Amino acid sequence: MSEKPRRLRKAAKLLNINRAMALRKLQCQPNDRFDPLVFIEHIMPSLIANFEYCYDENDEVFKKSPSTLGYVDLTSNPVLVTRQSVMERAKKGSFHDRFVLCHEIAHVFRHSRSGKILAQHRLDSPERNRANRYFELEANLFGGILLVPPDSDIESITLKDAQKKFQVSDKVVKIAAADAVFWRINRKSK
Ligand SMILES: [Zn+2]
Repeated sequence: MSEKPRRLRKAAKLLNINRAMALRKLQCQPNDRFDPLVFIEHIMPSLIANFEYCYDENDEVFKKSPSTLGYVDLTSNPVLVTRQSVMERAKKGSFHDRFVLCHEIAHVFRHSRSGKILAQHRLDSPERNRANRYFELEANLFGGILLVPPDSDIESITLKDAQKKFQVSDKVVKIAAADAVFWRINRKSK
């Protein structure tokens, strides 16, 4: 994987979309609402050896970085960590916290081989780091597909209906609709 491009290249983007769609199908149908907590607690442990999910408001990383909501530690056994408040709000259907969980799920599946790099970037200044930006972009794309897949009816329903149906922000709906167009056009020409 190249760490240089600022935008995902076409092939990489299509690969990410296809992988996220395949994982999503392990939990629900294209037009169902994806539940990241069920996915984390029941599906990920069956796919990833020694995977663990921790929710802890008093985690050291959160103490040092008040704005951090979640992270993954992939240096040895894969661990996904979020604040307890994120887990609780996601359970109640908070759009943003559901997205946070999906973003972290994406890091586990896409970046486990780059675990040490990712950990290091988190300690450095993340927003300035080019490789880190690529990881974040990829995790956002992948996480977004988990929430709203391109093979759903996203292109034919209203923004409001889509938000309600998939429990996502308007921003995620707009990005998902664009991804659906991209997927439809490019899936045959890979
Ligand atoms: Zn991230």
